[in-house]
Amino acid sequence: MIQHTDVVVVGGGQAGLAAGYHLRRQGLDFVILDAEASPGGSWQHMWDSLHLFSPADHSSLPGRLMSAQAGETYPDAGHVVDYLADYEKRYDLPVQHGAHVGAVRRDADRLLVVADAGTWRAKAVISATGTWTRPFLPAVPGLFTGRQLHTVNYRSPADFAGQRVIVVGGGNSGAQIAADLALDANVQVTWATQRPPRFLADDIDGRALFDVATARRRALDAGRTDTGGVASLGDIVAVPPVRAARDAGLLEAKPMFSRLTADGARWDDGSQSGADAIIWCTGFRPALSHLAPLNLRGPRGHIPTDGTRALGEPRLHLLGYGDWTGPASATLIGVGRPARDAAREIAQLS
Ligand code: FAD
Repeated sequence: MIQHTDVVVVGGGQAGLAAGYHLRRQGLDFVILDAEASPGGSWQHMWDSLHLFSPADHSSLPGRLMSAQAGETYPDAGHVVDYLADYEKRYDLPVQHGAHVGAVRRDADRLLVVADAGTWRAKAVISATGTWTRPFLPAVPGLFTGRQLHTVNYRSPADFAGQRVIVVGGGNSGAQIAADLALDANVQVTWATQRPPRFLADDIDGRALFDVATARRRALDAGRTDTGGVASLGDIVAVPPVRAARDAGLLEAKPMFSRLTADGARWDDGSQSGADAIIWCTGFRPALSHLAPLNLRGPRGHIPTDGTRALGEPRLHLLGYGDWTGPASATLIGVGRPARDAAREIAQLS
């Protein structure tokens, strides 16, 4: 049986919930379909020591401030999960958990959303599926016979006690996981990055980053020169563990190796590192396979958009994912504005 609604939101992490908040304010009927069995999106799967790079009051979704976590300036992932679960409940958002969407298709003047939990026909779809389920691994020549994992599989240094580990990647995940391991005396870490790591100044946390992203958006909106945004400042937020490892001289990066060997990696200069495990902190791609029937894919696997609206399908909005769907839209504090804009645009659709 096909169910009818105004809007289907695919994904019930922070982006899907922010969408729900604003759809409700527009008076629209909607359902949120989320593959996770419980609330919290991908925050449920972060590694044990992960903390936000912004304080709680700078990590809130529309309408409800995240409370501070006792004893922590920067809340941990569990605190975010609790906040999102509470948000879902407080606003009575119609989230169906354990509902995986396999395909979104055109059906005359509507979109058909096919999920394992049923099929919905809607005048619009907001896709908010994030990137966590699509870890990216670069192709590197050679064959390593030890254990290989991605950021998404990492939990804690205890899993690597007595081992030699190569961490690959010069972004926040790479720096934080390398620091987490390096601060444990039982693990021997080599950190490999494609270019020298660029640490942000110690006093720059998510608050300052959000201010920069906002200033950039205002400049672009007003037709002024692009200020370069957050990327112009550096890549790595010096969160307390990263700072501690760096200041103790434990976070020295090597250039990226050129080849995997059976028991480690080899560099262009002929040097080698033995390893029991390699952790690839090499990023993510947007999880968009459910949208394949719409044939909208553009360069780099993205779907070209104007704001959040897909250029090739005015009934489809993309929320979260990265700056390409709105400045800072893949952050807790930044997703509110594009969610509001998407809901307003959808309310205008016939
Ligand atoms: P997700 O949380 O991934 O939620 C997407 C949901 O969609 C999931 O529940 C998923 O199961 C579901 N889904 C996927 N595909 C389907 C499908 N086909 N059908 C149905 N459901 C589907 N941001 C900050 O603001 N502050 C931080 O400190 C911060 N730290 C970060 C640290 C790390 C290591 C990472 C990776 C990101 C961090 N971010 C941070 C960025 C961002 O806030 C998170 O990535 C956040 O989880 C993105 O939320 P989302 O709702 O877009 O995606």
